Parts: sequence; C-alpha cells; structure tokens
Amino acid sequence: MRWENLTPDSGHGRADAALFGADAVITRTFDTPEFRGITFHEIRARSIVNRVPGASRLPFEWTVNPYRGCTHACVYCFARKTHSYLDLDTGLGFDSQIVVKVNAPELLRRRLSSRGWRGEHIAMGTNVDCYQRAEGRYRLMPGILAALRDHANPFSILTKGTLILRDLPLLRQAAEVTDVGISVSVGFTDETLWRTVEPGTPSPQRRLDVVRALAGHGIGCGVLMAPVIPFLSDRPDQLRATVRAVAAAGATSVTPLVLHLRPGAREWFTAWLAHHHPHLVNRYERLYAEGAYAPKWYQRRITRQVHDLAQEYGIGPTRAGMPRRDAAAPAEHPTAEPTQLTLL
Ligand code: SF4
Repeated sequence: MRWENLTPDSGHGRADAALFGADAVITRTFDTPEFRGITFHEIRARSIVNRVPGASRLPFEWTVNPYRGCTHACVYCFARKTHSYLDLDTGLGFDSQIVVKVNAPELLRRRLSSRGWRGEHIAMGTNVDCYQRAEGRYRLMPGILAALRDHANPFSILTKGTLILRDLPLLRQAAEVTDVGISVSVGFTDETLWRTVEPGTPSPQRRLDVVRALAGHGIGCGVLMAPVIPFLSDRPDQLRATVRAVAAAGATSVTPLVLHLRPGAREWFTAWLAHHHPHLVNRYERLYAEGAYAPKWYQRRITRQVHDLAQEYGIGPTRAGMPRRDAAAPAEHPTAEPTQLTLL
C-alpha cells in the first residue's frame, strides 16, 4: 500500500504527501458479523480540515472527512477513484479497505482554535459517508460535533447512515449555537434496486425514518434525491413514489441529481449493470457517450419532473449546498450541478 502522494479528501487536486505519515498505519480486522471481511487502516492524519480545490464553483470551501473508503458500497460511488491514490482497489477494495483518521476530533479542535481559522462553514459527507458502519466502532463524529459545537462553527452533514441519530443530542446542542444543515441521501424507494446497487446502506425507508426522526426533534432535514438512475429509477411513477415518501417523512427540501459515472465508478457500475441488467448496457453507452454525465436534456427533464412533484407534495426544492440561516431548515451541500461531490 502506498501512503505517500495522497490527494486531498475532495478527490481532486494536487497530491498531498503531508496528509498521512507512512509510519502511522495500524491495520485491524474485527471478527464480528458487521465487520467481517473489512480491514481498517488506522492512521494519525496530519490535517483534517481540507480546502476544496476550485471551491469557487462549490457552495462550501472546507470539508472534514474522517474516513476513506465506504462500507456502504454503493456501486456508483464516485469516491471510488480516490482509493486508487492509496494504491487500493476502487472496486471491492473501496468497500472493504477503510482508512480511519483516528485523531480527527483532536485535529479538528486544534484547527478551530488556531488563529488563522475564521469560522467558515465545514461540510461533512462530501467524499465518503461519515456515518458509515465504521463510525459505530470508532465513534469519531461525537468528538467532531462537540468541537464544532464548542466553537459555534457552522457545518453540514450529508449521509445515508442511520447512525446519525445516535448523535442527536449533540446535533441539537450545536444547532442552538450555530447553523447546522443535515441532508439524507435517498435516490429512490425501490427496495429491489436498493439491495443490489447500494448493498451496504440502510434501506431507503430507514433513511427516511432518519429524516422523520430529525424533523420530530426540531432539526430540519433535506433529501438529496441521488442518484436518479436512468432506466432503473426514473419512470414517472418511480419519481412520484420517491418524492411522495420524502414529503411524508417531513423533509424540508428535495434536490434531484442524476447518476454520473466518472472513471473509477464507471467501470464498477458498468460491470454491475452487465450482470444485473445486461439489456441496458447499450442504452447506457449511448446515454453516457459524451462522458461522465447524462445529457443536459435528460438532467433537465428529471429536475423538472422532481420539482413539479415536490411542489405537488408541498416541499420546495432547494439550491443544494447553501447553508440556511436556521437549524430547522438546514443546508444540503451537494449541488444540483455536476460537481466533484460524491453521491452519498
Ligand atoms: S455513495 Fe456515499 S454512502 Fe455510498 S459508498 Fe459512496 S460514500 Fe458511501
């Protein structure tokens, strides 16, 4: 495994050899059903607050990502590519070789206390899910949230993990002193599709239960409807079912995002498609012939349909990523435009 030449957490930009020290890696496995087959690489990172390259195009400039790799194992996850910077496999390796920055809370607290820090918004869940299963064991987020709360530093979280409810008290405390934006990612409600394309995630219904629970505790939560998967979750009745369920859960907003397939994710997704839906391979080749993104006309069509449905069901689509002023109506950070953000 190569631990030099690492890139920043956004997965973009120059290599950053300063991120980890090669002598600081401890590898562990746990023989519990939950973690069987997963290897954790515990490291003491040298920095935890990362500046997003090209942030002018994004709604935030700073990110914190305590993990790399994600056991949620979404086939389409574009963060897969970032595993190659560690000389790790972008397919199964991304799902099962998890880098844990065990000193993330103390590093964050130190950064927030530093003279140069000006209290900017920090986005989490922008590369991989900070509430993936590993968080149940490593419990890095409570320390991170406590640091943000103590410094009244605004932040947002995007997740597919139900584990976020464990930290509800901390989220409430933080929301009393600063802007807190929570978004849950639910691209569709089709459980058959979910089982194969997002095999390590809580079900869409359980994620919507998170939205419901947060709303019930006075913490507004948006839904990033991502990804909308062409020919598999984009039928009008499927879009309607998803938006209806999102509305019923009490989401403050719903923002659609069509599947994009960058290198790293594209190969893995295409293999999955060939196995589970071989009749669609040619259609995908045509739809994504120009590159990582579906054509603009397709993206606009989906966006319009979802926005119309959201209006019908009484929820407003939000310009994602814009932190709101009050905690009851939080931010969603991935933009509706194609960006380098992952599709949590
Ligand atoms: S899309 Fe998000 S939840 Fe899914 S594997 Fe990637 S980082 Fe994890």
